[in-house]
Amino acid sequence: TSSAAQCTIPVSGMTCAGCSGKVQRTLETTPGVTGANVNLMTGAASVSYDPAATSPERLVEIIRSTGYGADLPTPDRSDEDMLSTRDAEQTAEARRLWQKFVVSAAAAVLLMGITMRPGGHDAGGVSGWIQLALTLPVVLWAGRHFYTRAWAAFRHRTADMNTLIAVGTGSAFAYSVVMTIARDLFVAHGVEPHVYFETVAMIIALILLGNLLEARARSQTSLAVRKLAGLRPAVARIVRDGDEREVPLGELVVGDEVMVRPGETVPADGAVVDGTSHVDESMLTGEPAPISKGPGARVVGATLNRNGALRIRVDRVGGDTVLSRIIRLVQQAQGSKAPIQRLADRISAVFVPVVLSIAVGTFVIWYDLGPDPAYLHALVAAVTVLIIACPCAMGLAVPTAVMVSTGRGAELGVLIKGGEALERTESVRTVVFDKTGTLTEGRPEVVSVHLAGADLDEGRLLALAAAVERSSEHPLAEAIVAAAERRGLTLQPAQAFMSRTGKGVLAMVGGLRVGVGNLALMHDLRVDPAPLAAAADAAATSGRTPVYVAVEGKAAGLIAVADPIKPGSRGAVAELGRMGIEAVMLTGDDRRTAESVAREAGVTQVIAEVLPERKLEEIRRLQRSGKVVAMVGDGLNDAPALAQADVGIAMGTGTDVAMEAGTITLMRGDPSGVVTAISLARRTMRIIRQNLFWALVYNVIGIPVAAGVLYPSLGMRLTPAMAAAAMAISSVSVVANSLRLRNYGRRGTVNGER
Ligand code: ADP
Ligand code: MG
Repeated sequence: TSSAAQCTIPVSGMTCAGCSGKVQRTLETTPGVTGANVNLMTGAASVSYDPAATSPERLVEIIRSTGYGADLPTPDRSDEDMLSTRDAEQTAEARRLWQKFVVSAAAAVLLMGITMRPGGHDAGGVSGWIQLALTLPVVLWAGRHFYTRAWAAFRHRTADMNTLIAVGTGSAFAYSVVMTIARDLFVAHGVEPHVYFETVAMIIALILLGNLLEARARSQTSLAVRKLAGLRPAVARIVRDGDEREVPLGELVVGDEVMVRPGETVPADGAVVDGTSHVDESMLTGEPAPISKGPGARVVGATLNRNGALRIRVDRVGGDTVLSRIIRLVQQAQGSKAPIQRLADRISAVFVPVVLSIAVGTFVIWYDLGPDPAYLHALVAAVTVLIIACPCAMGLAVPTAVMVSTGRGAELGVLIKGGEALERTESVRTVVFDKTGTLTEGRPEVVSVHLAGADLDEGRLLALAAAVERSSEHPLAEAIVAAAERRGLTLQPAQAFMSRTGKGVLAMVGGLRVGVGNLALMHDLRVDPAPLAAAADAAATSGRTPVYVAVEGKAAGLIAVADPIKPGSRGAVAELGRMGIEAVMLTGDDRRTAESVAREAGVTQVIAEVLPERKLEEIRRLQRSGKVVAMVGDGLNDAPALAQADVGIAMGTGTDVAMEAGTITLMRGDPSGVVTAISLARRTMRIIRQNLFWALVYNVIGIPVAAGVLYPSLGMRLTPAMAAAAMAISSVSVVANSLRLRNYGRRGTVNGER
């Protein structure tokens, strides 16, 4: 077996999905290439290849042979570098398109002026030669790339939208040139010496205009990433030996201390060493209210310091920062392909050959049956068919929507992994919420302590429990340790600590065997919980978690811990209900506690007392009953369940996010993000279907009309220029329709639109 290598090659000059499709097909059929994904929106080809059979240099050559530009990948360049290079390329490309458009439009206007005069279409006299002279720069310079690319496609025995344009305008041009050169000969044979120079110039001008508008609109679709990259400040104020000094951001290293004054942007991720302030994290998390920060608090780069000065110890810079990870994720998402794209690709692939045959058929039928001069009408009709059939809008339908939608999601603090994620999220009908930290705050607090007998007092019980829990990372453990510290209790060291996942913890404290955990742990330890039954009942029915404490194999006491539900939980669950989605709560916690919390959050289905490794099983069980399941968790200890679900939604806390764990990452720990994610996905898929529908309908109607099916009955025909205009309009309208997603959630309810 051969080893595989991977590279990403920047490709320039692709204006249409036909282009990217062609480059992709060419790469896929290249020996040594095991997989290729060419993305029109990001201008990049990701290729997996066998290094023994081919090389990046060879791949670059192959891409260039298709008529597009390609550069060797530069592995040491950062994502931001790539981003700004691509931006510069896109700007340059738009400028070139604009110049070409201006030249061809000016020529088209002058030519129209000439042909509008009586006999203007006649190749006779100087007029024919002047028209030819005006058209030459349009064909040889402004429209040159259509012909070179069509030729490159032809050499690969394929055809694409450039083929349609080149054949269409080329035949009209060639015909007109022949008429101009040999006018007298044709007239002698009774042929009307008609020229179509103005049509050629007009078609090329209109197609360039369409490309130009499309390029403009397309650059709008990547606005979100550029906005994110622009959040990073240019300089950081480093504190060294008591001195403050401004340095370029790139010079910042892990371990540096930086000063951030009020109104300044935090330069990188780190922890507050000194000072208190409010920090606006809305640009990353979508959380509108500034968060109060003091010593020890985590801050992330690109957030805005509001009112106080903060000294921060930097612990992540460059590509490791939260911002960089977000940018990377969004870029990957925007570059990914949605499965529905395959439909568009399949249609586009058969489209061009089919259209070429239709054009030939059109020519033949007009030539045989059409009115005189038959060959003239036949030529015009065939050219019109070729021009109107360009499948550009079809290729833009999916990627533009995916791009805008994932970008808009990022602005709202909802990171969606890509097109496939959007498609799967759309069909979600069941959302499973982990309880702790997802529906609840995840910051439990001890509310009461109950004793089983008179052997211990409350302080002693709490101190023993806290001594064990000090070694645990469970939120319940933190609550118990915090409560002991608040009471100023001294904690003895614990020996032989053991954790029973999903049940509790055990250790020896001061020579005593202490167990802290749930009822299952008590059963494991053969401890009779009866003395604590009443206290446990009372705690559970009011939504508190009963934590049993056993000492020397006997029930000693019970600690009731409350974890209030998040303010957004109830609203999110209700909203999901209105969207026809059932909410389920999944937890390892006590059943009655869970049921009480569920009632408060409005969740009717509860799966409680589930061991962590069984959570995945529960998801599988729901899936087996035919449901498309989303699982919402913290992404840290719920990772397996998130991976098993059709859609894994990892919920962060603003500064701590397991971004790689889920299909979707919510930057903010607010369950309403789940609603946003699903409704954004639904809306995106609706837009994609509209786009595909309109792109297809337009061709399905346009081609026969161009071919002349309405001519016998209504006398209606299209001109090639009308076809070019229609094609431009359809591409632009598809992009514009996708851009509507930029406004998602801006007005009205959480749902944006309904
Ligand atoms: P969840 O996160 O859904 O609450 P876990 O598997 O983390 O589920 O915990 C399940 C249950 O196990 C908890 O509700 C608690 O009763 C018990 N438990 C787990 N770890 C501890 C611990 N360190 N101290 C006390 N109880 C614990
Ligand atoms: Mg948990």
